[in-house]
Amino acid sequence: MTSVESILDDLRSRAGDGEAITIINPVTEEPIAEFPDGGAKAVDEAVARARASYDAAVWHGLPGNERARIMWRVADLMDRHADDLASLDSLNTGMNRDQAKSIIGTSAEVFRYYGGWCTKLNGIAHDVQMTGGITGAYSNMHAYTLKEPYGVVGLIFPWNGPVFNFAAKLAPALAAGCSAVVKPAEETPLSALLLERILAEAGVPDGVVNLVLGYGHTAGKAITEHPDVDKVAFTGSTEVGRQIVAAAAGNLKRVMLELGGKSPVLIYDDADLEQAITMAGMGIFIHSGQGCICGSRIFVQRGVYDQVLEGLSMVADGVTLGGPEEDALIGPLISEKQLNRVTGFIEEGKRDGVEVVTGGHRLDRRGYFVHPTVVTDVRPTMDLFQQEVFGPVVAVMPFDDDDEVIALANDSDYGLAATAWTKDLGRAHRLAKRLEAGTVTLNCQMVFDQSMPFGGYKQSGWGHEWGRDGVESYLKTKTVYAQL
Ligand code: NAD
Repeated sequence: MTSVESILDDLRSRAGDGEAITIINPVTEEPIAEFPDGGAKAVDEAVARARASYDAAVWHGLPGNERARIMWRVADLMDRHADDLASLDSLNTGMNRDQAKSIIGTSAEVFRYYGGWCTKLNGIAHDVQMTGGITGAYSNMHAYTLKEPYGVVGLIFPWNGPVFNFAAKLAPALAAGCSAVVKPAEETPLSALLLERILAEAGVPDGVVNLVLGYGHTAGKAITEHPDVDKVAFTGSTEVGRQIVAAAAGNLKRVMLELGGKSPVLIYDDADLEQAITMAGMGIFIHSGQGCICGSRIFVQRGVYDQVLEGLSMVADGVTLGGPEEDALIGPLISEKQLNRVTGFIEEGKRDGVEVVTGGHRLDRRGYFVHPTVVTDVRPTMDLFQQEVFGPVVAVMPFDDDDEVIALANDSDYGLAATAWTKDLGRAHRLAKRLEAGTVTLNCQMVFDQSMPFGGYKQSGWGHEWGRDGVESYLKTKTVYAQL
């Protein structure tokens, strides 16, 4: 058992001469601990360690099966420490403990899955008959490609699932053989400190994974601007995604972005309505709406609109809110900043004339809790239609036919995920083709698997995580020609 106290001691003693950062318990609004912002200095040191480990090939030089075994040990240790990791994430985010523990299990599987890729990263071989060419000197050539790790990668992610985000970024990078500088969100550093210990115990060599704690505008920015970082993989807001693209221009580092969403959910009158209502409700209210694929715009075919609206309102009113100690289904928003952001969107919507069917306010208690909120009369020009709220707020709107709903669903700068509920399977697959989203779920919602690629269309991202694409995104391709 790793005591929370030993992790807090570790946190307080981290190096850094920047501003003190206070992490707040979002359930009690009380401070948990303070730690120094590592800033650019900690990033410089971390990048130097990562570069030295990469150049010495202490990780990518190991045989693939040895790296796989180490990654599987990471997964086993995560399972062994699941209670501790879940306690840290629950303390830090206010998330229900069982949900946190289940996410730790999923995160361990991510390490297991990508451990398997360490022995399967091969290029292609091809006998090339050169036709012409400048010299005309060669005719028979053997050509092949080598898959090589990108080098030193910067991994930056948000607070909405601390262990999961850590695993999602680091596991494919390690499978590819990269060395990494890892920066979790300033709000949620706790579980990263235990993961750092787990990586060392599993046998990941010194210098391969380097944790930096600090703000985005200091430490995060320093990673994205650093001339010795070869690639940045980022999850977070579209606004910061844009800043990262600009910062990466200095050394033309590669950038992978997993950004926001405003995901549409289409419910047709022939759907299994009981299932659709429950899943669409949970698909926005779970984790207080703090998930990138949450379905925040629900379009309902007119004939069942009233029934679905009533059902969604019942789901909203039926979920229990509270902290990890209160046996509630749904926890708080992460911070006062997010609370103000979410309630600000609701107040603006009210001024614009939306109808609040249920919710629309913070809970009358301590903690950053917002009552799950259902709004109607939302028009495409409004922020509640276009902006990512990242809270438990859903706009419900009627539609009549496919063309109308496709136009509404695709009327967004985002394109992360989309869902359709209909028993007409032909229509379901036609909708899948027409919806502008990187992931489409048919008669199911909030599903993904580490074996399948995940990435955003439009301003929801660049590149893919998960599956083979996920590990490929941390690899470079070298082409070799040999004269026969
Ligand atoms: P954010 O984008 O500001 O921060 C995410 C991560 O990036 C954090 O680790 C942060 O420290 C870092 N960061 C911030 N500024 C940076 C910079 N200039 N350079 C490099 N790194 C930087 O997200 P947030 O403030 O935590 O949340 C704000 C909004 O982001 C949310 O309301 C939501 O819309 C969106 N969000 C999306 C996801 C997602 O999974 N798509 C997750 C969390 C937040």
